[in-house]
Order: sequence, then structure tokens, then C-alpha cells
Amino acid sequence: MATKSTRFPLRDQRSLALLKELSRPQRRAARLPVADDAADELQQWLPEEHRSDSPPPLPELSELDLVRHFVNLSALNMSVDSAFYPLGSCTMKYNPKRHEWAARLPGFLNVHPQQDDESVQGMLALLYGMQELLAEISGLPCVSLQPAAGAQGELTCLLIAAAYYRDQGQQRTKVLIPDSAHGTNPASAALAGFDCVTVASNERGTVDLADLKAKLDPQVAVCMITNPNTLGLFETDIVEVAQALHENGSLLYIDGANLNAILGKCRPGDFGADMMHFNVHKTFTGPHGSGGPGAGPIAVREELGAYLPTPVIVRERGEDDRPRYRLDYDRPRSVGRVHGFFGNVGILVRGYCYLRSLGPEGMRRVAENAVLNANYLLARVREAYPVPYGQRCMHEFVATTVDGDDLQEVVRYWQQRHLLPRKVALTAQDVAKRLLDYGFHAPTVYFPLIVPEALMIEPTETEAKETLDAFADALLAIRREERELVREAPHTTPVRRPDEVRAARHPVLTWHELEQITQDR
Ligand SMILES: *Cc1c(COP(=O)(O)O)cnc(C)c1O
Repeated sequence: MATKSTRFPLRDQRSLALLKELSRPQRRAARLPVADDAADELQQWLPEEHRSDSPPPLPELSELDLVRHFVNLSALNMSVDSAFYPLGSCTMKYNPKRHEWAARLPGFLNVHPQQDDESVQGMLALLYGMQELLAEISGLPCVSLQPAAGAQGELTCLLIAAAYYRDQGQQRTKVLIPDSAHGTNPASAALAGFDCVTVASNERGTVDLADLKAKLDPQVAVCMITNPNTLGLFETDIVEVAQALHENGSLLYIDGANLNAILGKCRPGDFGADMMHFNVHKTFTGPHGSGGPGAGPIAVREELGAYLPTPVIVRERGEDDRPRYRLDYDRPRSVGRVHGFFGNVGILVRGYCYLRSLGPEGMRRVAENAVLNANYLLARVREAYPVPYGQRCMHEFVATTVDGDDLQEVVRYWQQRHLLPRKVALTAQDVAKRLLDYGFHAPTVYFPLIVPEALMIEPTETEAKETLDAFADALLAIRREERELVREAPHTTPVRRPDEVRAARHPVLTWHELEQITQDR
């Protein structure tokens, strides 16, 4: 259970108590009239054997108990609305409240996914518009909005690649993935039935072209590349990579989860991509990090369009010459459904609202300011936290707590053995924990795997210079603080340093599990 808060020393345990502990017999949030008249009818609809003699064992609470409980709980967590959240690769940008208003408009909120096409023309028009925007942004003409997350977009594209090669009568079993890739890439490839082959990064932190070419053979179906990559560097050889793949009959997949840096600046379809996914919950301001659900639409080249999941939204000309939208299920080569109905529509409404509010010029400014903010932070902290790859960065950068003149040697040693040659005075975990005391969310740590003690920092374009300066000041201060103080941080949060491995392997998520553990002790 949560330890007592030191941030609020006068608050008693009650503000952190579980609903079950707050429960008092007969306390209620609402009292409904006894339904005497309905008893006979009830008898008819709910047979005796399905009825209970006693009320369900739920906590008994007043409305005020409930409101305070959840409001206090929400205040224990950090969010984009409460604090700076430089979580690399997650693009925790501000979620404009206007998008929430739009998504809650009754015409969007109250449509039912089983209404017929004629009665949801407005929603279908919006989704069709979203498809068109994503086709334009990606430079790839065929779009599906169905996948519910980036990882599912990856999987869907790999299933499309598998179906495409099957139709060509080709047996291709391998997917090439750089060693700096997001973990979902190899996971999706394995789930789609492919064998993963790792491609090395070069000394600049981009894909090693020679290594990639050496690994190309007739079994290679797809190469998955993140561009800009997870080190925050643009893959400058991408056109040559695409050429080498295409000459080999293979497809280039672009992981577009972090499109911030190139939005409106360049298009994956133009630099050789055959397929890609977007993260609406990252680039296009969908709330995420327990605020989901997300959406991971995909875009593919013309030749691959026939394999997109069904249904596809199509536009036709109605009798009155006005556009009509229809859900097309008649796609014999489709890989089939990957989500119920049309995908997570609420998040797509927010993303559409964002893109239409920005327009092309606004999108370019997003890219410019995301890159400017990341470079400003990089310049301010690299003295204290070296950045092994890149003088400049795109939307994010990866620093390390390892210092000393032998940094490049330490990095190489780490990459070969996944061990450090000596103990570091300050770990990435220490920094992440101590930042919480300063009121900042931690950056992403220990990722990508090719940088030891990695701090992956992505400020996003929505933060002001003052916030970036305060964050940089905190990072520099932590470098100078007493080791003991930092090693025992955080000092101000209700939960301090949980056993992360045990928390992940044996999550305790219900009251019953907690009771069980307490009894066993
Ligand atoms: C976030 C991310 C993903 C996965 O996206 P989800 O929506 O979390 O499944 C894939 N690749 C990269 C580079 C990412 O940052």
C-alpha cells in the first residue's frame, strides 16, 4: 500500500485510503425509490434463480467520499496538464481542450457504430477527411484508420506485406530492424510470423548501410526504420536504403510514431517508404498515458491498398450530385478486420480537429518549434549530460549520465557486453527519480539500448522557454547534489522506489490480491 505522503504531512491516511476502507454500512451516494409497482414485471424479466438475497459486496460511500477519493488520486499522478513531461519518444505535447469539446459534440458522441451509413454521413465525412489528410502528410495514398495503436499499425502493415508476397508467390520470412528501434518493431514482426534480423547502427547513430546491404537476401520482406530515429537523428541515407531494398524486391516500412520533427517538411512516401503508421495519440495531440485510447492509422502505397483492413471508407457521388460516404466491405484481398467497427473514432476526431486547426503552415511550425526546443535543451545540458550521438538533434535527443573523457570507449564497451566497465556516480534512474522532487516528469530512461544510462528527452513544441530553462536548471542542479540525497530520491512522492521488476512481473491490481498478500505475510 502507498506509504504516507511527506508532501502533505498534515493529511491523514484517509486521503490515500481505498474505497473499501472508506466504506460505512448504509452510506449511499444516491437512494432510489423502492420499485414496488415494478415487482411483478421484475419477476417476469429476472427469474428467481438469477436474483441475490443480499446486496453485492460493494463499498458503501457518499458522493462526497467518491469525489474526494478520485480527485485526490488524480492529484498523486503527473500529467501534461500538471507538469512538464519530457518523455522521449512519447511526444507528451499539450492536448488542446478545444479538441475535447469537439469530440464531445452530441453528433459525434452519440452515434452508434451499428447505425447504417446513411445516418452517419457527417462522421464518415470526417473520417474520410482524416484519411485524405494522412495520405497527404505521408505521401502514401491508401489509408486505414482502424489500428488502435502504433504497435497495431505495425502489425497490420506486416500482415499486409505477408499477404502481398503470398499473392506474388514469394516466400519471404525476414524483417530487418536497426538496433536503435522501438521494442514494438521486433515484437510486431514476430507476431506477424517473421524472423527478425538486427541491423547495426554506425558511429553517427544512423543505420549502417554496409551492414544493411550485407543482410539483404531474397528472404527479406520488410525493413522497419524509424525516421527520425530514436536517437533523434534523421536517417540521411534513407533514399539509398529504400533503393537497396526495392532492388531486392523488399518493402520499406517507416515507423512514424514520432512524426513531429518532419511534419509538413518531408514525406515518407517521397523518400521511399512503402508503408508507415502514425500515432494520433502522440503527434496529433490525442491524450495518452492512461488518458487513451489511442489510434495508429496506417498509410501504404497504391499496390498495397487492396490489402488494407475492411471496411474502407469510400466517397461516391450521390443522386443529388453531393458526395456520399460508404463503408466498403467488398475487398477480397483485404487482411480482414483488426479492430471493431471503424477504430477508436473519438481520438480520430481530436486528431482531425488538430490538423484542420493547424493547416499546412501550422504543421511546419510544429516541426520547427519541436526541433528548436529539443536543440535548445540539448545545448543547455550536454556539458553535464553528454550526448554520444549527434551535435544537433531533431525532436528529441539521448543523453547519458556516464561522464569522463573515455565516453566513446564506454559506449562501445556497453554495446558489446551490455555491461559498464566501471561504476557510474549517477545513474539514469537516480536522475529520473530526483526530477520528480523538482516537479518534473522523468524522461524516458534506459532506451534506446545502444546508449548506456540513457536519458531520452523530448520537450515537444508546446513548451515555453521558461519551462525548458527550469528543467535544464534542475538537471544541472542534480549533477551537483549530494549522492545520498539523489540515491534516495524521490522524497516528496507518496510512492518512492517500488521494486520495478516485481511490480511488472507480479502486479497487484485488485483488493483481493492485496488482501491475499497481506494474509500470507
Ligand atoms: C510509441 C512508439 C511506438 C508504439 O506506439 P503505441 O501506440 O504505444 O503502440 C512505436 N514506435 C515508436 C518509435 C514509438 O515511439
